[in-house]
Amino acid sequence: MVSESTYIDDMNQLLITLVQNKCINPPGNELKSIQVIEKYLKDRNVPCKVLESAPNRGNLISEIKGTGKRPSLMFGPSHVDVVPIGNESAWEVEPFSGIIKDDHIWGRGTTDMLFIVVTQLQAFIRLYEEGFKPKGDLRLCIVADEEVGGTYGTKWLMENQSEFMKVDYALSEAGGIPIAPGRLLIVIGEKGAGWKRISFKGTSSHGSMPYKTDNAVVKASIATKRLASYNPPLRTEYLKYMSKGMGLNFLTRTMLGNRFLVPIALKIAYKQNPVMGRLLHALSRMTISPNIIKGGTKTNVVAGEAYIDVDVRTLPDQDDEYIIKHLRKAMGALGKEAKIEQFSSETGFFSSIGTASDPESEIFSHMCKAVEEYYPEVTFVPLVMAAATDLRFLREVGAQAYGFSLFPPETPMNTMADFPHGPNERISLKTMEYTFKAYYNLARSFLE
Ligand SMILES: [Zn+2]
Repeated sequence: MVSESTYIDDMNQLLITLVQNKCINPPGNELKSIQVIEKYLKDRNVPCKVLESAPNRGNLISEIKGTGKRPSLMFGPSHVDVVPIGNESAWEVEPFSGIIKDDHIWGRGTTDMLFIVVTQLQAFIRLYEEGFKPKGDLRLCIVADEEVGGTYGTKWLMENQSEFMKVDYALSEAGGIPIAPGRLLIVIGEKGAGWKRISFKGTSSHGSMPYKTDNAVVKASIATKRLASYNPPLRTEYLKYMSKGMGLNFLTRTMLGNRFLVPIALKIAYKQNPVMGRLLHALSRMTISPNIIKGGTKTNVVAGEAYIDVDVRTLPDQDDEYIIKHLRKAMGALGKEAKIEQFSSETGFFSSIGTASDPESEIFSHMCKAVEEYYPEVTFVPLVMAAATDLRFLREVGAQAYGFSLFPPETPMNTMADFPHGPNERISLKTMEYTFKAYYNLARSFLE
């Protein structure tokens, strides 16, 4: 019988190895870490499959078959690739050392999201070694290429292992962060992105006689102002879930639940805490942010061309047609003549659809049980976040997918805002232990 402390020590050691493997994406080269995990499983006699999606890129899957009497549950898709280190001088340690200092394991990728990879893996192994006989399938899915869109990771698996990827529930990054005593954030969905280029044509003529000329720069600047002040239709459901989970008082909750009162509530929230005000605003609608404007050729030539690049973020169920309809409406008469284009991701234009899972599905009661030891009275706060994760691919085919892990109550509020993609990324040994146990407990509770 393997002791709990051995499971935890081995798992911490594996995290250090994965950090040291330095799978920076691009180019990723995740096969290195996937093969380390494959060996780790084989040394423990747990069967698994490695699926190579491109040279040096690969994914790993494994399964404990259930009897089919309960829904299936996936640990993952969880990614082993990491982002570049950024400004190296801001790091207190060598970013790929994986050293243990002040009860934390330090290094790029520790919070995003290698600690979930190894805790899920270890919980899966422990269940396997204990001869776990679940009523629903328990699947493990470790992937490449999340940070650059999933082409060689989850997206590839959706196309090449569609049966395996069809699950009822999936758990991955990011969640389980305390935002107030007894309240844990759980990511239930993510906003979509539909970046657009809006171009205008003018008629070039001499800049010395501008009266009634057709100037593309003037059009683009008027359009920019209109886009920035436009209010797309409000939706209150995500505000409602969030304010309920956060335990806001009745008056604030009522205001956030009423379309006519939301603008006032946002102003109050912004005054109290600008970050909170912006977050609530982003949860209430599609947002439009015109961030680049370019045009014209010469100071003495009336501009024949100009364009605006716009960062558009959608709520779940808002598609491209919706985006274009509202961009045109926002620009008024200029909306009729504007050319609106979507660029492929190669040119730096990002696009993904927004997705959300049920904030009241049956897994939440099992999550409560899974974290009971550390959070006896817990409330989960469902969040739709602005960034994209691989879970969107699973939600698109009907899975209920959530960000789940477990940080200790004393975790500083800024942990998830500062560490992923920032300098001095690190994870506490306590979070490792709590998350490992939470995944183990959750699978037992949910699948038994
Ligand atoms: Zn991530």
